[in-house]
Amino acid sequence: MISKKNSSQLFSKAQNFIPGGVNSPVRAFRAVGGDPVFIKSARGAFMFDEDGNKFVDLINSWGPMVLGHGNEAIEEAVVNAAKRSLSFGAPNAAEVEIAELIIEMVPSVEKVRMVNSGTEATMSAIRLARGFTGKEKIIKFIGCYHGHGDSFLIAAGSGAATMGVPDSPGVTKGTALDTLNATYNDIESVQQLVDQNKGKIAALIIEPIAGNMGCVLPSPQFLEQLREICTKEGIVLIFDEVMTGFRVAKGGAQELYNVMPDLTTMGKIIGGGMPVGAYGGKKEIMDFISPQGPVYQAGTLSGNPVAMAAGLVMLHHLNDNPSVYTQLNETTTSIVNGIKLNLKELNLNYTINHVGSMFSLFFTDNIVTDFESAKTSNLEIFSSYFNSMLEKGVYLAPSQYETLFVSTAITNAEVASIVEANKGSLLALV
Ligand SMILES: *Cc1c(COP(=O)(O)O)cnc(C)c1O
Repeated sequence: MISKKNSSQLFSKAQNFIPGGVNSPVRAFRAVGGDPVFIKSARGAFMFDEDGNKFVDLINSWGPMVLGHGNEAIEEAVVNAAKRSLSFGAPNAAEVEIAELIIEMVPSVEKVRMVNSGTEATMSAIRLARGFTGKEKIIKFIGCYHGHGDSFLIAAGSGAATMGVPDSPGVTKGTALDTLNATYNDIESVQQLVDQNKGKIAALIIEPIAGNMGCVLPSPQFLEQLREICTKEGIVLIFDEVMTGFRVAKGGAQELYNVMPDLTTMGKIIGGGMPVGAYGGKKEIMDFISPQGPVYQAGTLSGNPVAMAAGLVMLHHLNDNPSVYTQLNETTTSIVNGIKLNLKELNLNYTINHVGSMFSLFFTDNIVTDFESAKTSNLEIFSSYFNSMLEKGVYLAPSQYETLFVSTAITNAEVASIVEANKGSLLALV
């Protein structure tokens, strides 16, 4: 057994001072049992915890660290920017440079506004869509996560899918009523909501590749059909690319599938590890934002010079090195193929969804195309698998309903150790 002495001590202290001992719920390991490990440092493909354990990192800060930890160019840019002050609250050149670069990289984005997190980006994009269209309702998909804004914490009510029910206390019924829930990959469920709410829908927001119910790919026609419906009905189509942006391609899922949304929300990789988000899209919509237009949105630390410096180096690197995506694809394919071989040898029949450097191993025999099918996974098995992988030095996302993220720092040696750990962990399950 790996030692968790120092982590457990920290966790027990943390619970006195921080709700649940963590600043973001999934980190608490509640879905997999056991105490979370506290990370002290990370370098390249590895994280080191407070007890001196070393893990191959397959979360990479939930996406941002696509180049692995401790990228020298990014760290240098951060240090240099910090020496010119941590914050101005006034315009700075880096903001202009990153905006220009984002617009160059993300095909549908003509203007962009920087914020401090993915949550802020999606909340702002929805307000903008409402202000722009003069309509109030939005459509989202069951199992898609768009940050913790009130409008998004809504599950489908039993029976009438038109009646949103809050997923969290504190979200008002009024807010819930304005959020309509459709089923991922089910265009009929979207058409139905549109027909039942003619002329009332401001926006449709979707993860163009879902990553927050585990990795779930859109079916070949699905995004195109959404585009058609939104164009026909005057609905603002929002791709939430907080996860997929700069990851599945330099221009995100919209580039990969060649379907253009009206607005795009971004986060994670865009800040190179610093807290950054952004939303952007068509000029005519973006110009509705204050001070150009009437829809208010602001931020004391938005466009923060240190954060912009980190993001700029990250995005320049991805823009200038298309081979990053080839490499990420190849590495991830090797991991996935290795896992598949292990499963086959053990005659175990599970599902793996994979696109680019995102993948999920679901402990179910069903194909996984939406939240309903994702939920057929055996969570007990996942929990044993997770803990066994941790013991063997591989740090996975501590929930079945999360995607794993591969970084360019993972080399053949780490691929081999991941596949080996997977084999041992699966063996322990059968
Ligand atoms: C992570 C994520 C968010 C929220 O971003 P935060 O920076 O955690 O607020 C929103 N949408 C998607 C698709 C995400 O993966």
